[in-house]
Amino acid sequence: TLQAGVVAVQGDVAEHVTAIERAAAAHGRDVEVREIRESGLVPDCDFLAMPGGESTTISRLLHDDGIAPEIQNHVAAGKPLFATCAGLIVAAADTGDERVDELELLDVTVERNAFGRQKDSFEAPLDVAGLADDEPFPAVFIRAPAIADAGSAEVLATWDGRPVAVRDGPVVGTSFHPELTPDSRIHGLAFFENEEAALPASESA
Ligand code: GLN
Repeated sequence: TLQAGVVAVQGDVAEHVTAIERAAAAHGRDVEVREIRESGLVPDCDFLAMPGGESTTISRLLHDDGIAPEIQNHVAAGKPLFATCAGLIVAAADTGDERVDELELLDVTVERNAFGRQKDSFEAPLDVAGLADDEPFPAVFIRAPAIADAGSAEVLATWDGRPVAVRDGPVVGTSFHPELTPDSRIHGLAFFENEEAALPASESA
């Protein structure tokens, strides 16, 4: 049984738990999902999700609670991390916002709340590279960050001319919220189909 963790100091945690269970079932893997609210749990996790919410709050709590260095070690060990919206902001290399103490887990610069007041929330059909089929992904954007500079990360999707989904080694990040739709294909991509990440092999032959 794979051990998954959802960083749960703040944000849309329950939705990620459900999406992980759905993606695991679709890939024939058993998974046990834990909510991470304290240090000491991340080292037992095979893969992690970091949810949307409010990035300055998530950043502060992760550092205060000693969870931040554990997440950095997790990624340094090549284990998968999927970061969505505020999670992507916290994981980025640079946000240009001094209230966010970036974890620098992927080589991207983000711009918070970049899609403008008129379009605070919207849904867009996105073409995402690497999905098993050609169906567009129903991407929900909520006061979403844009990726201003994707650095060395691979761009998986763009919207309005800007990157909104990236992969950098074991880390996948999206500006939008795949956990808020019943479509768990990007969770599957991030955790079970990322060849640049290390996940224990399936026990069944
Ligand atoms: N605007 C939020 C932030 O900057 C992110 C929004 C979200 O996660 N839906 O933290």
